Amino acid sequence: MRTPFVAGNWKMNKTIAEARELVSVMGKELKNVKGVEKVLCPPFMALVAIANLIGGTDLGLGAQNMHWEEKGAYTGETSPGMVKEFCKYIIIGHSERRAYFGETDTTVNKKVIAAQKVGLIPIVCVGETLTEYEAGQTAQVVRRQTLEGLKDIDAAFASHIVVAYEPVWAIGTGRASSAENAQSVHRDVVRAALQDLFGAETAQTIRILYGGSVTAANAAEFFSQQDIDGALVGGASLKSDEFIAIARAAAK
Ligand code: PEP
Repeated sequence: MRTPFVAGNWKMNKTIAEARELVSVMGKELKNVKGVEKVLCPPFMALVAIANLIGGTDLGLGAQNMHWEEKGAYTGETSPGMVKEFCKYIIIGHSERRAYFGETDTTVNKKVIAAQKVGLIPIVCVGETLTEYEAGQTAQVVRRQTLEGLKDIDAAFASHIVVAYEPVWAIGTGRASSAENAQSVHRDVVRAALQDLFGAETAQTIRILYGGSVTAANAAEFFSQQDIDGALVGGASLKSDEFIAIARAAAK
């Protein structure tokens, strides 16, 4: 039995004051949604403020990126240990990081290994671009990203990892995948690759989230699928009512 999981990726949105405001409104209701792991991923600048605001509740905190090195001359970067001071989760390999900041399967893997070292739980993003989707390469691309991104990870740690299947063509476009298409990628590609990496038993424990234009209106349909264990939510996580409704749908 995998506990459902919903995470809000705020991307580069919300000042500290705005982030505090959003969490003070959203937090009260979110805390009442039981049976689902709820994680907020604000921008770096707001992490400390939000950590203080949600301390002692069952709301989790995640960062959106980190470096894989412990410390050193990496201007502008943040180390795994620094993230771990405030966060339980770390988003790794989001498609925007891959597209705009040159992240590859290799750097994703370094970050996942670094997360394992400090005990951060990675939310590892995989997903094909529109060109790859149209060329029928979804399975090939997503399998490669999963195998390469999660290689050399201990099976014991792997069971805590969260994988997010996010077709790039569905992110921020309002054009979500169909629930059936997402389910088949989750089961036949992502979970199959996890099984090859870690064995069938561990693969069954790993949460696989869908991400890409999830809203309060379509969430329940995704969550009704056997291998869709929750959602990584972008735009809709910035709206209290939407994100609360998505969390409620996941809890059912
Ligand atoms: C995301 O940024 O991970 C995402 C899924 O965005 P959106 O929900 O806005 O498509």
